Amino acid sequence: MRYEQNKDRSAEVLRLTLAQMGKHPAAFNPITFTVWYEHAAGINPRLNAMLQRLEAEQAVLDDEMVLRLYNQCIAPADGAALERISSDMQRLMAGVVQTATNTGQHAGAFGDQLDSLTATLAGTDSPQLAPQLQDVLSGVMKMRGSVDVLQQEFKASKDEINRLRLDLDRARSEAFVDPLTGVLNRRGFDQKLQRMVAQPASADSQGCLVMLDIDHFKNVNDTHGHLIGDKVLQALGEVLRNTVTDPAHVAARFGGEEFAIVMPEATVVQATALAEAVRNRTRAMRIRQRGSNEVLLTVTLSGGVTALKPGDDEQALIARADAALYRAKRSGRDRVTVE
Ligand code: GH3
Ligand code: MG
Ligand code: MG
Repeated sequence: MRYEQNKDRSAEVLRLTLAQMGKHPAAFNPITFTVWYEHAAGINPRLNAMLQRLEAEQAVLDDEMVLRLYNQCIAPADGAALERISSDMQRLMAGVVQTATNTGQHAGAFGDQLDSLTATLAGTDSPQLAPQLQDVLSGVMKMRGSVDVLQQEFKASKDEINRLRLDLDRARSEAFVDPLTGVLNRRGFDQKLQRMVAQPASADSQGCLVMLDIDHFKNVNDTHGHLIGDKVLQALGEVLRNTVTDPAHVAARFGGEEFAIVMPEATVVQATALAEAVRNRTRAMRIRQRGSNEVLLTVTLSGGVTALKPGDDEQALIARADAALYRAKRSGRDRVTVE
């Protein structure tokens, strides 16, 4: 269960939640409530860190901002449940397809038996048995027809189920992709990182994590508006998709204007080179005005690189990459730093 607070504790949290909700313009809906509840209960460290930062900036939380916090910090936790449900569903459907296939095959074999029975009956030439034989023969032929229908129905159900399985597969992979940028979303990132951390390191390559963050992105939004900001994110997504081409490596949107590259089996040198390639292509991006094609702006990004060490968990790895990123920011931005 996500919420372990008993009635008394939750009443206390509720009071804090209502006080916080009242201070901001976002509507009093369940999304806003969940955001402030998780914050007041202190159960979501990522959300707390982001809210603390926003509070320090005296940010005003409107519906859009609250939704963004919800999508970044709360929704990803449901990913595991989604994954479990869809793999149970896949298993169930595979079972149904097998049953339909078996039943169809049995019906086919029974049809063949009926065919040979029909041939035998038709060849029997006995005057006493003739009337009864005619009845049996027509019964057998009707049965043959029903078996054909049954077989076709099973075939149709099997095809339908296979189509549903493909749909489910597609929905499942879409659940891991960020729609704006086309790279993996946070849920997909968490899964890949978990896999990388679980894998034992080999002698010459240990797995690396790269964290990337657009420089002064708040200025982009403030100067050009959120739509242009989104266009920058979209363009960076394209840069990442075109630059991270090794199928073993994956680019993901970590949240907001932060991205990550998970590189199992890569050295720090390779990870730094890839981060530098993304940085250079990002500086070369030209965001143009629709219609006039005039260049509106360019952006830069900073990166932090770290290698997996024995005993690391996901948090330790992210914290080190973040520290490297922070150093890149502090020493002037538009650079990649290795921790
Ligand atoms: P720094 O160089 O230190 O990283 O500065 P910054 O301005 O990039 O960093 P800051 O964390 O202060 O601001 C990040 C901004 O990113 C604030 C937020 O409004 C914006 N942002 C986050 N997600 C989105 C999004 O999906 N679309 C748009 N347009 N903006 C977003
Ligand atoms: Mg930034
Ligand atoms: Mg940032």
